[in-house]
Amino acid sequence: MLSEKVENYYRHRRVLVTGAAGFLGSHLVDALLEAGASVVGVDNLVTGKLKNLKKALTSPHFEFIQADVTQPPTSYLDKATNSNFDLVFHFASPASPPRYQEKPIQTYLVNSLGTHLLLSWLKETNPKARFIFASTSEVYGNPEIHPQPETYWGNVNPNGVRSCYDEAKRLGETICGVWERDFGLDVRIARIFNTYGPRLDPDDGRVVSNFIKQAKLKKPLTIYGEGTQTRSYCYVLDLVVGFLKLASLPDLKGQTINLGNPEEYTVRETAQIIWSTINPDKKLRLKFKPLPKDDPVRRRPDISKAKKLLGWEPKIDFRTGVRLMVGGRDV
Ligand code: UDP
Repeated sequence: MLSEKVENYYRHRRVLVTGAAGFLGSHLVDALLEAGASVVGVDNLVTGKLKNLKKALTSPHFEFIQADVTQPPTSYLDKATNSNFDLVFHFASPASPPRYQEKPIQTYLVNSLGTHLLLSWLKETNPKARFIFASTSEVYGNPEIHPQPETYWGNVNPNGVRSCYDEAKRLGETICGVWERDFGLDVRIARIFNTYGPRLDPDDGRVVSNFIKQAKLKKPLTIYGEGTQTRSYCYVLDLVVGFLKLASLPDLKGQTINLGNPEEYTVRETAQIIWSTINPDKKLRLKFKPLPKDDPVRRRPDISKAKKLLGWEPKIDFRTGVRLMVGGRDV
């Protein structure tokens, strides 16, 4: 899936990944190792799971450090062995609405203070390294513009139930901008839209994981509100290709790029697709629950910029991805 040019870039690079045991972080670690990089993964295991790193932990080119990135990097990185990095991917954060709302303080700290500490340490130790920040479509809040291009500034409730995450990611982006503009670091921001695939925690409360779990148990699928709200789902391995391109291509310093799949589905359509994949002979049953506060009505990425600057677009449609995900392939 990767071009030779992108693969070659990673050979013998030293890469730091925060949130390495998470859903996205662990797939990124696997892809980096496969491309020939040597990777240090950091995670405090608040929402990440060591089992996600099962494959990586067998590699001699991978080192795992259990640590909290809201502490200075010098407190968890051994100076002699692993303080030199070509790339840092800052992916640590709870990401599902129920989980980040359970851990609001960790969520806002890891995206704000964590980002600040990593960038100020990078400036001292590896000023030429590239820093990739995992931002989110949540920076667009409940968007008034559809689909959402990177130029849209968003419509976010600054003191709402989602703000510990979306405002923290916005502040994370602000901090990235300061260190890029004022201190010259090569910072790049990925605005990540809804993602699914193997290793998505079945208990993380997101729509795809809930529906798959409920459909496997042949229970009614829980629709919040009317189910007319929309989301656009990207298969995780498509997304990882986008990360590898964003980090490796030249001349992207200071760029913010949407990464997601522009196919858009209502929550009811999502339910139908997941149910019929798992239970093709049974009639779908739904159970309606109240719509959570500040739940965005529509969400779909405008990926023109990713197509133009990265030559990237997703390849796996939602039906295929759901089949791959429930097919039980341990990837
Ligand atoms: N949702 C739902 N049933 C569920 C879980 C989520 O109808 O069991 C809805 C939720 O209200 C939202 C959409 O599905 O409109 C996507 O929710 P998710 O938590 O996956 O992520 P979000 O995009 O809101 O961050």
